[in-house]
Amino acid sequence: MKKYIPAAVLFVVFEAVAVSLAVFKDNIFYLFNFSYIGCSISLGVVLYIRSYKNARRVVQLLVGLYMLVYLGIICNENMQLEGFWYYLFSGVFEAATIHYLVAKIAGPLVFGRGWCGYACWTAMALDFLPYKTPQSHERRGSGWLRYLAFAASILFVAALFLTHAADMERIMFRAFIFGNLIYYALGIGLAVWLRDNRAYCKYICPVTVFLKPASYFSLFRVTCDKGKCVNCGQCVRVCPMDVDMTDNSRARKNGTECILCMECVKKCPTGALK
Ligand code: SF4
Ligand code: SF4
Ligand code: SF4
Repeated sequence: MKKYIPAAVLFVVFEAVAVSLAVFKDNIFYLFNFSYIGCSISLGVVLYIRSYKNARRVVQLLVGLYMLVYLGIICNENMQLEGFWYYLFSGVFEAATIHYLVAKIAGPLVFGRGWCGYACWTAMALDFLPYKTPQSHERRGSGWLRYLAFAASILFVAALFLTHAADMERIMFRAFIFGNLIYYALGIGLAVWLRDNRAYCKYICPVTVFLKPASYFSLFRVTCDKGKCVNCGQCVRVCPMDVDMTDNSRARKNGTECILCMECVKKCPTGALK
């Protein structure tokens, strides 16, 4: 049973967040929300431990669809970046602000880009495409487009506040729907063009402006036991994010891009990665 301890720890952590927020905010929704996410992630860890090859996809679908369909479309919560700015500018610590704090600002200090590997509803769809291993591990350009997209999201919401736009809730809901359609179109187009499922994550996604600096310090990260490594290169070839996980330094190539998918760990023939 010892091997299931990580799943149990994750479940307890999410329950602690669920109960704390439910009490602090006096809202039972947080109990349901974080309990559901915690159960989904713990289930994924159990499936991974039991060597079920689609364990990560199960978590992606459970969490990604819940956030996209239930929270986004049914509950009208804009959980995209513009939703975060909207709640922040409104001075409200709800929905997207809590989501960003837990998953994308503070959380990555502990679990790095785990959000990107297990919960993002954009990547949930992109990972169904056939280019799971990039055709080339060399990046094209510096990824400056992410900063443009980041700035555009702030300017969009700031403009709504400065012009005192009427019915901002409705505008934010429409922004969520159209924003997602644009992200999916761009993500799929770029993946097909560059033959790389995660091209959108590497070049355009504005959320990485938050994710990358915090994940540099991530507590959980793949490390390499140099004594066991035979330099076969299989791990690097299979990595969807072009990370050089054989380098244990924090400054390793594309180190802030690791989505903790564990494909390299599964592929390593000598068990050097953990
Ligand atoms: S980089 Fe952006 S689109 Fe890709 S998984 Fe992370 S949050 Fe989602
Ligand atoms: S293959 Fe390894 S280094 Fe690459 S993203 Fe997955 S866990 Fe991270
Ligand atoms: S797959 Fe394992 S043995 Fe091969 S280079 Fe990577 S860490 Fe070393």
